[in-house]
Amino acid sequence: MSEPWRFCPQCAAPLALRLADEDGGPKERLRCTACDFTHWNNPTPVLAAVVECTDRGGRILLARNAAWSGRMFALITGFMEAGESAEEGIAREVAEETALTVDRVELIGVWDFQRMNQVIIAFHVQAHGEIRLSPELAEYKLFAPQDVVCWPAGTGHAMAQWLRGRGLEPRYFQPGEQPAR
Ligand SMILES: [Zn+2]
Repeated sequence: MSEPWRFCPQCAAPLALRLADEDGGPKERLRCTACDFTHWNNPTPVLAAVVECTDRGGRILLARNAAWSGRMFALITGFMEAGESAEEGIAREVAEETALTVDRVELIGVWDFQRMNQVIIAFHVQAHGEIRLSPELAEYKLFAPQDVVCWPAGTGHAMAQWLRGRGLEPRYFQPGEQPAR
């Protein structure tokens, strides 16, 4: 969860937890003490990609974020930009972060990630070409689908769902085996 907001983005007065009547009944939220602003704190959509490298025998690209501690490899993720569809957004993110050419984008499903107040929209992305990582990513690994080990949170469930769709029973990391992501 991110730091709570302290000031109104409309008038800069302090925000405070206040009860107000909403469609669903009285609800306490961060509201402005001077104007009518309400901080709804809606979940943020996050796009995620199971990247299948069609020119590398269908292996799956997992990447390690430069900001992560430990040796976690996970899906390519990113935020949607204003004015693009989710499909356009994930194609852009994969191209920006790996330099791969994206050929096909198909929805896997939608998962909530309440710890981060996010909603994960996961896609299967078929791509090809030379891999050059953006500075955001420290390294990548290519896995045959049957060798992928899933992580019991967020995008790991999307990875598992995609494997099930291919007739593979997903394996998850056991507690202590690897930090979950
Ligand atoms: Zn205000």
